[in-house]
Amino acid sequence: MKAAILRSPKNITLSEIQTPLSPRSDEAIVKVKYAAICGTDLHLYRGETPAKYPVILGHEYAGEVLMVGQGVRNIKPGDRVIGSYMASCGKCRFCILGKPQLCERRLMFGINIDGSFAEYMKIPLAERVLVKIPEELDYRDAVLVADTFLTAFNAVEKALKPGETLLITGLGSIGLSAALAAKIMGASTIIGTARRERPIKIAKELGVKYVLNPDKEDVVKKVMDLTNGYGVDASIEASGAQKNMKIAFESLKPGGKMIQVAIPVEAITMDLKYIIGLEKSIIGVLNPGTPPHIERALKTVKNEINSLRSIVTHEYSLDEIEKALEIMDKRIGDPIKILLKIS
Ligand SMILES: [Zn+2]
Ligand SMILES: [Zn+2]
Repeated sequence: MKAAILRSPKNITLSEIQTPLSPRSDEAIVKVKYAAICGTDLHLYRGETPAKYPVILGHEYAGEVLMVGQGVRNIKPGDRVIGSYMASCGKCRFCILGKPQLCERRLMFGINIDGSFAEYMKIPLAERVLVKIPEELDYRDAVLVADTFLTAFNAVEKALKPGETLLITGLGSIGLSAALAAKIMGASTIIGTARRERPIKIAKELGVKYVLNPDKEDVVKKVMDLTNGYGVDASIEASGAQKNMKIAFESLKPGGKMIQVAIPVEAITMDLKYIIGLEKSIIGVLNPGTPPHIERALKTVKNEINSLRSIVTHEYSLDEIEKALEIMDKRIGDPIKILLKIS
C-alpha cells in the first residue's frame, strides 16, 4: 500500500509498504477513504512536537472496515467508520478516572503508532477507537467529526452554558468548529478574532456576530464595549499565539474561564495577576476521544453538517501530500481544513 511516512522534521515521503492484513484479537484493519490534515500534523511535520520516527502521519480518518480480530464485537467488515485520534487502554488510573485522553499507555495515531495518511490503517483496541458513521453522512463529511469537531465541541462544553457570551481567538478549523458548536449549544453572543478574509467570511456564516482583527483594533477594549464593560463569560483560545492568549485572558469577565485548545509551541509570557484578583482561570482541554464522545459529537452536528463542511477549503490525493503540507505550512491561499481523498 501507499503511505506517507514522516522520517524526520520536514522529511515526509510517499512509500510503498506492506499492507497490514492480519489483525490481532483487539485490532481492526480499515481501508481509509478520507483523511484530514490537522494543526497537530503541522506541528509534527515542522518538528515542533516530537514523534516516534519513522511514522505514518495522520490521525483524522474515515473509512471502511476490511477485517477485525476475533475479540472485536461492535464493528464488522463492511462497516463505515470514523475513529479517535488515539487508543486508550481502559485500565490505567486515568482511564478509570474517566480521563482516557490522559491514558498512561495512550497510542496516538501518526505520533507513536502509524496513522491515517495511508491506504490502510491498523487500529489497535478497535472497540475503544472506532464508531459507525450514521447512514446520512458520507465519508467526506464524517472525517471532520471525531477530532476537529469533537475537540471544539468538548472545549465549548467545558467553557460555557447556554445564553453565555464567548470569545474565540483564532478562527482556524478548531476555532470555526467551536463557533458552530457554541451556536448549536445556544451561546448568546459569539465574538471571534481573525486576520484573513476567508475565515472572517466563514465565521459570519457560522454565527459569529463580531469578527475583530487584532492587527487593526484593540480587541480587549472592543470586547469590553460589546459586553457592557464586563467581558465575556468564556474564551476559547484556538491559535496558540502569545498575542491571542493575552487577548483571550484579558477579555474575560471576573470569574471567567479561558479554555486553551491550541498548542502554544513557544514559551509564553503573560501578566497573570488577575488570575487571583478576578478569579479567572486558564484550562487546557484535550479531545476525550472515546467512542461515546464521538457518538455524541456525531449526534450534535449531524443536522448542521453543511455548516461544518464550510471549513473545508482544499482537497488533495495522497500522492499530493507534500504539496498539501506545504500549503498548510506556508498558508498559501488561506487554507483552513485540507482533506486527503485516499480511495
Ligand atoms: Zn487532529
Ligand atoms: Zn489508560
